[in-house]
Amino acid sequence: MTRKMILITLVACLLTTIAVYAGRGMSMKCQAKPEKNPTTGKTAKPCGYEAMVTIGGGMFSEQMTGYCRACKKFVHLHWTAKNLPPQMKTRIKVKPHPIPLGEVWDARTGKILTIHACPKCKGPFLEIKEFDELKHCPACNKPHFAVDKNKPRLAID
Ligand SMILES: [Zn+2]
Ligand SMILES: [Zn+2]
Repeated sequence: MTRKMILITLVACLLTTIAVYAGRGMSMKCQAKPEKNPTTGKTAKPCGYEAMVTIGGGMFSEQMTGYCRACKKFVHLHWTAKNLPPQMKTRIKVKPHPIPLGEVWDARTGKILTIHACPKCKGPFLEIKEFDELKHCPACNKPHFAVDKNKPRLAID
């Protein structure tokens, strides 16, 4: 391998790492097995809810993800990245970090949950920080909401 090629490989690796940390998009699908109705004996239709979920922002803008129950979809809030190079600040319109609607204390976990306003209906939603936190299907509320391994993943920058 030539020195130039090594450099290109290094840069490519670095860019991939940045992309991973910046933001990711995954196609998620409800994989709950349909239940049999005990009275009729018929198996219900599988929920099959699927959505492209993106978590994390890019180089210039940060993003918060949540699910709005009223809008029945994943929603996002965007603001300008904190580490934006100063020369960029004059070129783009700086958007401040969203002001939360409020905080609630969860007695079962002891966690303080910050509630944000949905950009569309202004109703409350909780931030989803990691794909691991998404365990239940937003449509049927059953467990087994998981990444659809047959669909491609996205890297956002
Ligand atoms: Zn909403
Ligand atoms: Zn479901």
